[in-house]
Amino acid sequence: MENCPTCNARLKGNRICRRCKTDFSRALEAAEQAQAHLRLAAEAYSDGRFETMLEHARHAFALHRTGTSGHLLACAALLQGNYHLALSAWKTIEKGRKPDARAAAQRSSSVDDPSANRNDPPT
Ligand SMILES: [Zn+2]
Repeated sequence: MENCPTCNARLKGNRICRRCKTDFSRALEAAEQAQAHLRLAAEAYSDGRFETMLEHARHAFALHRTGTSGHLLACAALLQGNYHLALSAWKTIEKGRKPDARAAAQRSSSVDDPSANRNDPPT
């Protein structure tokens, strides 16, 4: 977190905003714990312990909803055959993405998709 979400002042690594005095200690602790769970999930994946991976991915996502934690949870859920959870995590992350990022993702995916070429005459 570089800027205060309340007043947009630069935080410069501080846990309390110098301008509005908002305390981010708990939020930053949750984010740090989420990072630890992401590392543990990655280790569990490397060891083929997918159930443990899913457990850590759930904790990480619950503590800090980011694209990384959501995508990891979706992958962990897929590896466990929990398609409902995978889709739910994916949709949650996609819903939270900024419109600019979503549009960029759609543009890049349409570049990869040859059927998206609008210069081709209709068949
Ligand atoms: Zn502030």
